[in-house]
Parts: sequence; C-alpha cells; structure tokens
Amino acid sequence: MHVIEHLEKASDPLFSFELVPPPRGASLNAIIEIVEALAPLQPPWIDVTSHSSTTYYRERPDGALERKTFRKRPGTLGICGIIQNRFRIDTVAHVLCLGFTREETEDALIELNFMGIHNVLALRGDQPNFQKEVRRDRTVNQYAAELVQQIGDLKTGKFLEDMEGSHPLSFCIGVAGYPEKHFESPNLRLDVSYLKKKIDAGAQYIVSQMFFDNQKFFRFVELCREAGITVPIIPGLKVIRSLSQLKTLPRTFHIDLPDDLVGEVIASPDHVEEIGAKWAHRQSLELLEYGCPGLHYYVLNDAKVVVDLVKKLKK
Ligand code: FAD
Repeated sequence: MHVIEHLEKASDPLFSFELVPPPRGASLNAIIEIVEALAPLQPPWIDVTSHSSTTYYRERPDGALERKTFRKRPGTLGICGIIQNRFRIDTVAHVLCLGFTREETEDALIELNFMGIHNVLALRGDQPNFQKEVRRDRTVNQYAAELVQQIGDLKTGKFLEDMEGSHPLSFCIGVAGYPEKHFESPNLRLDVSYLKKKIDAGAQYIVSQMFFDNQKFFRFVELCREAGITVPIIPGLKVIRSLSQLKTLPRTFHIDLPDDLVGEVIASPDHVEEIGAKWAHRQSLELLEYGCPGLHYYVLNDAKVVVDLVKKLKK
C-alpha cells in the first residue's frame, strides 16, 4: 500500500522506522534481527536508506597506492524486497540523484515496481567523494525536485525514451524537509520554497530531518503551510544513546542540540541512554498532541531503545 494511503486510512498516529543497509560484505542477519524486533509494533512502513559510491586509496604490497571505488552500503532494493515479502511490511526505498544517472534510476525504479515496492523517498544525496564520469548519452538529476519529476513521469508511463504501449509505474513519492534548514541553504524560507518545488513536481508527503527541539519543527510546519504546502509532514526523530553523539549528530546532520539536553547528558554521562529515551518520549508526546499524522524514527543499527519507546507511546 502507498504511504499516503496508510496516512489517509489511519485512525491512530502511525509509527514508522528507517533502517540502513549493512556495510558491503557484512551479513544480512543484523538487519533482519532489527526488522524482527520492529515487526510486532506493526509499522505501516519501513524506510531503507540508499548510498552512493565512495572512493578510497589502499596501499598495495609493492607500496603503490591503489584507487578503489565502491558502494559501501549496497542492498537497498534487496532489503526492501525481503522486508516486504517475508514480513509483509510495506517499504520505502530511498532513491538518490547524486551518484546515479537518470537511466540507472529508471532501471532501479522498474526493478522496484516488479518487486512490488511502490513507495520511494526521492533525495538528492550528498556530493560523493567519487565523481562519476557521466557518458554523453546519459543524464543526471541535480536536485531532488528533478528526480520527483522523473518518477512522476514514470507514473504516467513516460519513460526516458518514448515507447509505445508502455505501462505506467505505481509510486507514492516522499521527500525530505529540514526544520533547521538544509545546510547549503542561505535561510529556512528559501529552503522551504525549494521544498515547495518538490511538492509541485509531484511529491505526496514530507519526512523531516531529525531535530531535538519541537519548536523548530512547529515553526517549519508553519512556514510550509504559509508557502502553500498542504501535504502531510512527518517528523523524523532520533534517540540519543551515547555521549559521542553530541558531536557526531550535529556534524553529520547539521542540526542543533538544545542546551537542556546537552547539559543533562554532560552532567550524567553514565545515564545517556535513559536521558535520550526520556527526551525522545517527551518530544514524541508533544508532537502527537500537536496532531502529527505519524512519527518516523531513525533506528539505524539498534532497535531496542526505539521499540521500548514506541511500546510506551502505543499504550
Ligand atoms: P534537495 O531538495 O535537492 O535540496 C538540496 C539543497 O539544494 C537545499 O539546500 C535546497 O535548498 C537547494 N535547492 C533545491 N533546489 C534548488 C534549485 N533549483 N536551485 C538552487 N538550490 C536548490 N542521504 C543519502 O545519501 N541516502 C539516504 O537514504 C538519505 N535519506 C534521507 C532521509 C531523510 C528523511 C532526510 C531528511 C535526508 C536523507 N538523506 C539521505 C540526506 C540528503 O540526501 C541530504 O540532506 C542532501 O544534502 C539533500 O537532499 P534533498 O533531497 O533534501 O535535496
């Protein structure tokens, strides 16, 4: 079922989750165990992130440097297929502009539809440190809005090359939004105006970047509504679990951590998990009271803390 149908049919708030494929060469077991832990919560859907290629150098035995390029975390399509077919939970495959040509994207989208996966989150991605040379007969999407447009075209049966009698692909399209603005954007208002372009291109709902101060999310929703964005906006939440995340989360996701949260963690570093869980619980309750249609949790590689939290919220 499409995400938008889940949202339309829901009588209670929905709790969805986001998982990251294992690194290349790692076993699938860890992610399957996470899905097994999440399944009893009956999530309407689970997102699986996508990753573009990176380059690194390694020293050969003769001392020469060898350049290696690879996708560190492949497997988005396969994992979506397993979750959907083995666990009967709808999945949202993340699809990126950067690192992929439009032709590769079209093939991946056909593949997804053949597998029965009809939800995608259309993202630009970040500049990979490996710049793929694009063949002259290939094209790329620069911004997520262009990718939304490409997926929208496929929904009407318009493929990159005109084909007679082509069948439309079925997709519900989500996009990303940033309550604290995207890090490249000069300000939040301009960022929201580009978000509106993604909606105008055919995106049907928004999932937000993680945030720890609900006031920022409320302000963001207000700005979106003022800009004429009427689609559902689902807040993305992360539970802090370690002291090191005080540095890694702002650095990686370009977000701010509130003074109170940082103060509590620094004062009691041995109780970070407890503090993080309580903070996320308070945040979740307030967001539900505000009327959010659902909450989306960034699970990454450990489900326990999120499972405990959602069980409490569902009581
Ligand atoms: P866009 O919407 O294209 O915006 C990117 C920037 O360009 C913004 O600053 C915007 O204001 C600006 N902009 C947009 N259009 C224009 C225009 N026409 N002219 C000038 N400026 C413009 N990354 C991954 O690699 N894999 C994932 O699976 C993944 N999942 C994510 C899930 C969520 C919910 C979120 C919030 C982010 C995720 N990301 C993921 C990160 C995302 O790829 C990065 O934040 C990326 O830098 C921006 O992606 P976007 O789709 O928001 O880009």
